[in-house]
Amino acid sequence: MQHGYIISGINSNCFGCEACAQICPQECIELKYSFNRFWYPVIDVEKCTNCNLCKKVCPYEKIENILSSKERPVAYAARTKNNGLLEQSTSGGIFTELSMPILEEGGVVFGAVLTDDFKVIHQSAVNIEQLAVMRGSKYVQSRIGQTYKEAKEYLGKSRPVLFTGTPCQIAGLKTFLGKNYNNLTTVDLICHGVLAPDVAIYHIKALEKEFDTKAVKVKFRDKQQGWKKSLSFCVEFENGQSYCRTGKEDRFYNMFLSNYDLRECCFECPFTKTARVGDITLGDFWGIEHTKPHLFDDKGHSLVLLNSIKGEEYFSKILPKLIYEKAQLEQSEQQKLKRPTEPDIWRDLYLRSVLKNGLEYTVESFSRPRPLWKKGIRYFQRKFRKII
Ligand SMILES: Cc1cc2nc3c(=O)[nH]c(=O)nc-3n(C[C@H](O)[C@H](O)[C@H](O)COP(=O)(O)OP(=O)(O)OC[C@H]3O[C@@H](n4cnc5c(N)ncnc54)[C@H](O)[C@@H]3O)c2cc1C
Repeated sequence: MQHGYIISGINSNCFGCEACAQICPQECIELKYSFNRFWYPVIDVEKCTNCNLCKKVCPYEKIENILSSKERPVAYAARTKNNGLLEQSTSGGIFTELSMPILEEGGVVFGAVLTDDFKVIHQSAVNIEQLAVMRGSKYVQSRIGQTYKEAKEYLGKSRPVLFTGTPCQIAGLKTFLGKNYNNLTTVDLICHGVLAPDVAIYHIKALEKEFDTKAVKVKFRDKQQGWKKSLSFCVEFENGQSYCRTGKEDRFYNMFLSNYDLRECCFECPFTKTARVGDITLGDFWGIEHTKPHLFDDKGHSLVLLNSIKGEEYFSKILPKLIYEKAQLEQSEQQKLKRPTEPDIWRDLYLRSVLKNGLEYTVESFSRPRPLWKKGIRYFQRKFRKII
């Protein structure tokens, strides 16, 4: 049996949205774990009938056709009035508030969950318990699996559907569906990029070893020290102990923020702009303490972008549940609406080390605080890029 990448030439740009695998009538496309530790589509050429449906649904070259928005969406600073929910959510708790009307109407919400073996996957929720596990950002790439197909079935049965995910996942859904559905609302996230999933698995398992017990609850971003300092990774263990460290001290955040191990396509992400793919976009309203200080309470605030009439109408349903104010896009310090994340200067070295020495050794050596000379090189690299 011969195997080869299907979308030759643009493979490094593959988002891993899995639209191609789900559309294939021969079921001959499989997502395979690649040497760079992300999943990529591979075709069984013996079964393939060259129908080209996989190429038709690949969102990479169709981005301009599937955008929901005008260049300048309507922007809001918003957060839920429910303080308990706010505490459990990453930003302003808007994801849960948007999901509630769908569940109340007997609809289905799609989002990312962390499984018992610490993998992040997309799945559907039809009740509050299933919704609760979607809450909170998990900063590794989520597997879409068969969820586009599942969503299509619900849409065909006239059930309301809310699909949430990174912009490339929403793009994949839209090209997979190939037409507009009145009963579908899409929510994309402002996105730094997705980290290789095995880094999270390694980190949690290493903590289990260190604490000599099982992890029962994992929070990729905790707000106990305030939302502004909320880049902290927290784990609760079976024996009652807990672990909580902020960005610089935590192995996972060191990896996420140093940009060694993001998916290749994230460094050229075509969605880091104000024209958006979802009906609604959610992110953090960074800088709110300067631009709207009367709203700032360090409990979490979302930047909400309404990118289509559908998005505006949908958002108006949940306004009574929110503290909100219209905003100018410039009032939020959102770098990820301007340009993609830049790869770290040591990224190649990191990736080569993973191949040669394994993930454990590499993560341990690269997640130590950087020596001053490395920081210096990075500083000049940034300056140089800015000048160019
Ligand atoms: C990989 C990633 C990178 C992000 N980068 C930024 C950034 O640079 N700047 C910024 O302002 N905001 C970023 N966000 C968005 C932010 O962290 C919040 O998810 C968003 O503001 C919604 O918060 P909330 O309080 O409304 O709801 P929450 O309950 O916190 O949101 C949960 C939502 O995130 C989805 N989700 C969780 N993990 C994943 C995943 N791995 N893949 C796809 N969807 C997922 C859930 O399905 C749900 O829709 C990122 C999110 C992710 C997942």
